[in-house]
Amino acid sequence: MKTYKMSKEKFPEFVELIKTKGKLYGPVKQKEKYSFEEINDHSDLDFDYQRTVISPKKFLTPPRYNTLRFVKFGQTDVFPDDELQIVLGVHPCDIHAIKILDRLFLGNIKDPYYAKRRENLIIIGHSCLPDENCVCQSTGTDMVEDGFDMFFTELKDYFLVWVGSDKGLSIAIDAGDLLNETISEEEIQEYVRWQQDRSTMFKKEIPSFKYLADIIHLNYDSNVWEQFGEKCLSCGTCSLVCPTCNCFNVNDKISMNAEEGFRERMLDSCTLPHFSMVAGGHDFRPDRTSRLKLYFTHKLKEYIGKYGQPSCVGCGRCIAYCPVDINVISVSEALLEEVCKKVEEC
Ligand code: SF4
Ligand code: SF4
Repeated sequence: MKTYKMSKEKFPEFVELIKTKGKLYGPVKQKEKYSFEEINDHSDLDFDYQRTVISPKKFLTPPRYNTLRFVKFGQTDVFPDDELQIVLGVHPCDIHAIKILDRLFLGNIKDPYYAKRRENLIIIGHSCLPDENCVCQSTGTDMVEDGFDMFFTELKDYFLVWVGSDKGLSIAIDAGDLLNETISEEEIQEYVRWQQDRSTMFKKEIPSFKYLADIIHLNYDSNVWEQFGEKCLSCGTCSLVCPTCNCFNVNDKISMNAEEGFRERMLDSCTLPHFSMVAGGHDFRPDRTSRLKLYFTHKLKEYIGKYGQPSCVGCGRCIAYCPVDINVISVSEALLEEVCKKVEEC
């Protein structure tokens, strides 16, 4: 991997350069929250953020879009257009989440809509410092070594810039002398010190994250799930904000004269009522408890069986946004406590 240095005063010029390559998005502060928005000027960008409400998954699996158009005697695919989208300022946990989505949507059965968007997406990562809800150290996703095209680590008056792909290298070549290949020993040491300091700033952890799959297995019939089920509002916020949640529903919209229509795909959530309802009206998970159990067992246990890792990247969004405090920490704490009760130690 190639590494460069860029002085902060050259960054606005770099933003102008990448704007010539496609539509640029980055973190923008809106009231007290952040979201990825289109960037017209470098001053719109605000890198002093911990998490956006919606992760960059919105560029790959938008909340709602058409996949097919029907006409009377046929149908055509509706693919996103070819315009390149560049997302600047993506944090390590969200890059790990995109790697999880890639594995799912670009695996054995390739999703053509995802594949097209992914091909046209450039990911430029940015370093971050944790707040009280970041638990990416527990999930081992606080640092990232691949899955990005470029990655900027912000130090005193310069960035260290990692190039992670051919697309990133092509931008680096075009950037010319905005990037400097000479990095001194002192600058490397500053980077190492920054990493060490950052690793001491995490305030929360997910207890026994490594053993959570077993802990969930042991507690499959525990009444802890009912306690959380009682509290859950079935609002679906947890799925909407989680960067790895990707369930969707499909709906056909036909015109009144039945001459044309669209097939629409929209994000769904396993915590919403009717998520598990099938034709004929039978609902496999009519109660909040079973839906919530599905959410957490799928994310923290079943995913490991299939992909070798859980699908939680520790971004802290469920911790920050669930209105009744149901999240990876509260659930794992409660389940661990149940195990401790049984074995009378911990
Ligand atoms: S767990 Fe929280 S965010 Fe998720 S559906 Fe229930 S109340 Fe909403
Ligand atoms: S489960 Fe919570 S902390 Fe884990 S990735 Fe999803 S929103 Fe982030």
